[in-house]
Amino acid sequence: MSAQILRSLHHSEYDVSHSLELVIDALSTIIDPDSGKDIVRLGLVRDLKVRPGSVSMTIFFNRPGSKLTGSVEQSIREVVRQSSGDVQIDIKLDNAMIGFGPGVTVDGDSSSSGSVDGIANIIAVASGKGGVGKSTVAANLAISLAREGYDVGLVDTDIYGPSVPTMFGLESGRPKVGDDRQIIPLEKYGVKLLSMGFLVNQEKAVVWRGPMVSGAVKQFLKETAWGDLDFLILDLPPGTGDIQLTIVQTVSISGAVIVSTPQKVALADARRGVAMFEQVNVPVLGLIENMSWFSPPDSPEKKYYIFGEGGARRLAGELQVPFLGELPLDPDLRESCDDGYPLAARDDGHAAFTALAKDIARRCFIRNATEARTEIIEITRR
Ligand code: ADP
Repeated sequence: MSAQILRSLHHSEYDVSHSLELVIDALSTIIDPDSGKDIVRLGLVRDLKVRPGSVSMTIFFNRPGSKLTGSVEQSIREVVRQSSGDVQIDIKLDNAMIGFGPGVTVDGDSSSSGSVDGIANIIAVASGKGGVGKSTVAANLAISLAREGYDVGLVDTDIYGPSVPTMFGLESGRPKVGDDRQIIPLEKYGVKLLSMGFLVNQEKAVVWRGPMVSGAVKQFLKETAWGDLDFLILDLPPGTGDIQLTIVQTVSISGAVIVSTPQKVALADARRGVAMFEQVNVPVLGLIENMSWFSPPDSPEKKYYIFGEGGARRLAGELQVPFLGELPLDPDLRESCDDGYPLAARDDGHAAFTALAKDIARRCFIRNATEARTEIIEITRR
């Protein structure tokens, strides 16, 4: 159902998507004096509705005595009028001490709800097939989000082919366990990291089954000293089988990003990926096409569409999920990941991944402001 709401944002009769983006961007300029973070990032904006001529929302105050209470209504009216003109603005202030923001539960018990204390958004990066660049996207996306100023974690759940140890140059990394028995994640390029590869003997990985993987993932998420995170990126194992299904039912995922290459065979699997997330009510934030074309270094103006052109964009259109963009085949990107120093971590970052990070953050915030938190739905495959 949630996926359908996201769809309607993108394909409604008038450009609600753009109007919503304007309002979200405007609200993102309002800073909570207590935390120094903006009210959208904090998940305080809920039930946001943007219609022609009217904007309505509820603001949750999730801490007693918040300094924000006095000024927020006036600030919202000002910034929304600046962004959207003379619209009717309805603001409900909810002073419940505990908000319903992502990662926060009403009774403070996060164990049954699938939310994880302190983690605002869990984003799954998935692919139908292996080798399409899912881990490359997950790693560069995580680093780019951190460069944008967000607190970011990355969990590599691929037991059969973990890539975080290589991509972050941490092949011999072993996380420690703190006095409180919490796992202490490693940290590099501004990202807190855990990988199955840090813990599982690769020769024994073949005997792992879905429940063992989900048990380990649960531990990674709930028994790890992550601190407060804006985004935790979950690099899923490739495919859409039982292991993937079990993981996505382990915790409440804010949204999924699906990576595909342009070939027909990869797209067929990407389609199954979208179907899997829709089945468990996780909104698909979008589809990314990787290895879309190749430009030879001696004639960079030329684009060779080696695997076919426009396949993922067409599939996204057909499935009515957002298309997030194309990434070219880039030998430097491959080399940088093999060297443990991804392009996104270098100098000024990587323009395409920076744009992707900004886009995904905004889509996630829009989703949080307009939809209820993802409920865990248990589905077993026969
Ligand atoms: P997956 O996680 O889908 O199995 P990886 O991210 O591990 O895929 O990528 C598989 C291989 O392809 C890696 O060697 C990676 O460096 C390379 N690769 C990924 N994306 C690109 C790209 N756009 N250009 C060049 N090489 C890439």
